[in-house]
Amino acid sequence: MTSLPQQTDRKLGLVIDLDTCVGCHACVVNCKEWNTGGYGAPLSDQDAYGAEPIGSWLNRVHSYEVTPEDAPAQIVHFPRSCLHCEDAPCVTVCPTGASYKRAEDGIVLVNEDHCIGCGLCAWSCPYGAREMDASEGVMKKCTLCVDRIYNDNLPEEDRVPACVRTCPASARHFGDFADPESNVSKLVAERGGMDLMPEQGTKPVNKYLPPRPKQKPDADLSGAKASEPKAKGLLGWLDSALEKLG
Ligand code: SF4
Ligand code: SF4
Repeated sequence: MTSLPQQTDRKLGLVIDLDTCVGCHACVVNCKEWNTGGYGAPLSDQDAYGAEPIGSWLNRVHSYEVTPEDAPAQIVHFPRSCLHCEDAPCVTVCPTGASYKRAEDGIVLVNEDHCIGCGLCAWSCPYGAREMDASEGVMKKCTLCVDRIYNDNLPEEDRVPACVRTCPASARHFGDFADPESNVSKLVAERGGMDLMPEQGTKPVNKYLPPRPKQKPDADLSGAKASEPKAKGLLGWLDSALEKLG
């Protein structure tokens, strides 16, 4: 399925730094808390303390052991949520128009009043970023905390997504990718920010900063710059990891 990416005035999204994420799940928990206590229907949990708990989480973190060439094995923590794609298949396939991408800022949202819970958007999303709420019977997804970022009732420092506000490692950054001078655009330019699975043609707005290979204890650090190209190679495992996650 091909279509022209939707042009939007702004491109709000996240930069996630895989080099500094420590996998603490603070962003996961604060996302759950904010989206349960605030916007739309709460994110339900069922059988939370039972043998087979299920629940809606808009942001998850997966951890992998990766062994790059000529470098020690290392753990990479991979936070996963909606990437607010420019050419979003979840919007294209939605039969009711409940899934939509906002022209003013590019945020992809679900109108829960129009969602019939058919699940087509979840099947079409290559990143597994949508979550069916079993209790509500509607599809849930990251809203980029649209109810925080424009909320004049919050202190200015809180007008960012809950995950960004809570990250103790400053691994998450929020901004406008349409502005080349924004914090996120500069980070992507300086650190080689990457798309997830670009071959899918979804043109994700969110970008990932690659993890840097760790040095062996006896490494000659004067040549550290020479190892930077390998950092991009470290992201190769993400494709197969995402395929397994479905
Ligand atoms: Fe849609 Fe998935 Fe892209 Fe989010 S990451 S906009 S849910 S296709
Ligand atoms: Fe990683 Fe920050 Fe999320 Fe912790 S809060 S898991 S460091 S992105």
